[in-house]
Amino acid sequence: MGLAVTDATLNGEPVTLRAEDGVIAELGPSVATAAGDEVIDGSGMALVPGLVNAHTHAAMTLFRGFADDLPLMVWLEEHIWPAEARLEPEHVYWGTRLACVEMIRSGTVAFWDMYWHPEAVARAVEDAGLRAVVATPLIDGPDSAKARAEADEALDRVRESTSGRVRAGYAPHAPYTVGPESLEWVAGRAAERKATIQIHLSETQKEVEDCVAQYGVRPAFHLDKSGLLGPGTVLAHGVWLDEDELDLIAERGATVVTNPVANLKLAVGGIFPYPAARDRGVEMGIGTDGPGSNNSLDLFSDLKTFALLQKNAAFDAAAVDAAETLKLGRGEASVLLRSPALSEGDPADFLLVRADVPELALGALDAALVYAASGAVVDTTVVAGRVLMTGSVIEGAEEAVRKAQECASEIGVR
Ligand SMILES: [Zn+2]
Repeated sequence: MGLAVTDATLNGEPVTLRAEDGVIAELGPSVATAAGDEVIDGSGMALVPGLVNAHTHAAMTLFRGFADDLPLMVWLEEHIWPAEARLEPEHVYWGTRLACVEMIRSGTVAFWDMYWHPEAVARAVEDAGLRAVVATPLIDGPDSAKARAEADEALDRVRESTSGRVRAGYAPHAPYTVGPESLEWVAGRAAERKATIQIHLSETQKEVEDCVAQYGVRPAFHLDKSGLLGPGTVLAHGVWLDEDELDLIAERGATVVTNPVANLKLAVGGIFPYPAARDRGVEMGIGTDGPGSNNSLDLFSDLKTFALLQKNAAFDAAAVDAAETLKLGRGEASVLLRSPALSEGDPADFLLVRADVPELALGALDAALVYAASGAVVDTTVVAGRVLMTGSVIEGAEEAVRKAQECASEIGVR
């Protein structure tokens, strides 16, 4: 028994898609449904790949609207970090479940997460049905050895709970919260354990200045000295990377993930140098960042903001187009992030968008998705052949909202 989507269009042509065992078994104009198939009527819908949110802290849905409109370091140090100290695994679980509802609803099929209690994040992802790379955070405290051991143990717990949709990784928070010794340790452990690395890099100008003052080099060179720049590393933000750093990152094959909406909301004052990175062949992706600092998980909004910001910064409306913006959103601009394409034999991860709604009914679909749509145009989200939403209905959505509200009250942010 499989899943069949009938009468949807793919690149403008009517097709039927059949999935079996989580994989696209057949796709084309003359494909027929099989007896026992779960059938979705795709009339009026376009079949498109899902989005990849390449940097977020999903459980921070709990902090949405809490201590908003404050400078980054005040927001973090005086409000978020003290509240995070009160988090229990169950809070993280329901915060992540709520985030998964929002991502399923707005067409995200996979995300890269870094947050406390990663085993609870992994459990939420498993239950929600999405894919995620769940990274175990590391911040050097008074006892760095203990922090490193805890990150390692957390990685074990994430790995034990995986079904194939969840992968485990390390997340040293940033060069300004993790010392060179721990950075080097992460690079070594990630290589040994074949795990990915996620780290914040050059979000603010001040952290660049501090890095130069403390270590004598800019942040990308500082990470490289610890062995942290490689094809398995995601660098979130990269707003203040200079040309020498972009050359180095291109050479090492690390992926830079831009977070345009969060950068604007936290007023970092700069814009990720996308054209310079693209010209050098830097691997790239796009993320929402956490819902505490965006505050939305609707990646369509980030796609539009990204394209507009880059056009404006370049004084050139042709600086970035809709098709390349969508590639960024689908993880297709990075080998590390790459999401399976819509072909036979690929994992059955896809969306049905309502091609007959006003925003999408006229003109080119790519341009409409980037410049006119929001996540509300998504009707159906399928991951690994499992229907997570259809007709805009997600099983368990109300429970996730209610439980997340209870959790926010328990930790005193509501
Ligand atoms: Zn972040």
